Amino acid sequence: MWRSICTGVGLLMLSVAAARAAVAEEPKDTRPNIIFIMADDHGAQAISAYGSRVNQTPQIDRLAKEGVRFANCFCTNSICAPSRAVILTGKHSHVNGQKTNADSFDGAQQTFPKLLQKAGYQTAMIGKWHLKSDPTGFDYWEILIGQGPYYNPTMIRNGEKVEHPGYTTDIITDLALGWLDKARTARKPFMLMCHHKAPHRNWQPAPKFLTLYDDVVIPEPDTLFDDWAGRGTAAKTQEMTIAKHITKLDLKLTTPKGLTEEQLVPWNAYYDPIRKAFEEANLTGKDLVKWKYQRYAKDYLRCVASVDENVGRLLDYLDKTGLARNTVVLYTSDQGWYLGEHGWFDKRFMYEESFRMPLLVRWPAAIKPGMVNDELCQNLDFAETFLDLAGVPVPSDMQGRSLVPVLKGQTPPDWRTSVYYHYYEYPAEHAVNRHEGVRTPHHKLIHFYQLDEWELYDLVKDPDELKNVYSDPAYADVVTKLKSELARLRREYHVTD
Ligand code: CA
Repeated sequence: MWRSICTGVGLLMLSVAAARAAVAEEPKDTRPNIIFIMADDHGAQAISAYGSRVNQTPQIDRLAKEGVRFANCFCTNSICAPSRAVILTGKHSHVNGQKTNADSFDGAQQTFPKLLQKAGYQTAMIGKWHLKSDPTGFDYWEILIGQGPYYNPTMIRNGEKVEHPGYTTDIITDLALGWLDKARTARKPFMLMCHHKAPHRNWQPAPKFLTLYDDVVIPEPDTLFDDWAGRGTAAKTQEMTIAKHITKLDLKLTTPKGLTEEQLVPWNAYYDPIRKAFEEANLTGKDLVKWKYQRYAKDYLRCVASVDENVGRLLDYLDKTGLARNTVVLYTSDQGWYLGEHGWFDKRFMYEESFRMPLLVRWPAAIKPGMVNDELCQNLDFAETFLDLAGVPVPSDMQGRSLVPVLKGQTPPDWRTSVYYHYYEYPAEHAVNRHEGVRTPHHKLIHFYQLDEWELYDLVKDPDELKNVYSDPAYADVVTKLKSELARLRREYHVTD
């Protein structure tokens, strides 16, 4: 009897060991794994690999040191849900149907996760989805509802509601690590989307990071007090200024909902003295804007600190399990962001800060470490890139191009020399007029077509885009050439009026 129990336990131990070994093994299929990490509203200027003046992101920087940093990646439409739809489909907003946040994504259409799943990849989507329809093309999905909260999120796991106590950025990473460790099968390559809510408005930090940056003054951007005199009507009539449009909730002058009693203790201990000091100071004018900027920037950067820490947790797991070498890790944000530049928060405009996306890619098995790439690329290219990595043919109706040759330092000679942009969400929150435009390495032409206003910027002489030179006779040839290029791009992408 005793012997048979021992044998049974022994067999059990053997089978557990065998199962562990199977999980730890590299997949037999040699196609690379893909981990697609995306933050929400993380501007490149808040990543130290991009030369941040305001913070350090040592974990995200590992991807730059060990992979490629793209210096010129741009979105096609600088707003959340539309960018996600472009990424899933490899098609511009007017083709995939998601022009604004108000639209609902048609999940029945072709997307890269579906194509990867069909090609034998195990697919998972964890975190912020922000498309009104349910995810399609995933073996496993667990998503925030809409924007989702920073604390104690209710998530939807394959259709069922699940409560998660804690800080959302940590939870999303916990779930991603749990899926990698327990749910995936070692026989198949995988594609895991780990998509954060942070650092989206209202910038609510993890309790552990509440005092980070407490003793420092965050440098102000040179354009914090921009009066937009050199720009057109759209810049002058937007509603996204730190001076007038940021709210008490944004600035933590009121307490957000959704925190537990336990979480409220450090929260109030931190913010109550700040509120009291603010009331006593009775600030006005530029002093008030400067105060708001500090409050806003610190909480935004604290949210980024959690994202950075959690990127490190994923990278450490890949190192520990031996998966790092043949796993492509891509870090990006759904668009860029104004961290006080031009006096703003939010995004939407084709101006540089919100137009540019951070893009860092690491793949030790195939790409050299420490490269910086200057080619013009877009979120329009991500679907094609993921498919190409997996050896899946890119459908001819996708509108971007695979970045895989670019990643390997072998940019095709006919690579694009301009990018197309189109923003649609107006009238809407923040009051940014509709516009389309074209950007080349040196210039940017924008058409605010509802206003019938054009703007041209010389990005080499005027990188902050402070002076619209559209009517300057010295730029007449540039205007002609860029209008022709804009028309060509409209034809290429089938844009109709
Ligand atoms: Ca966003």
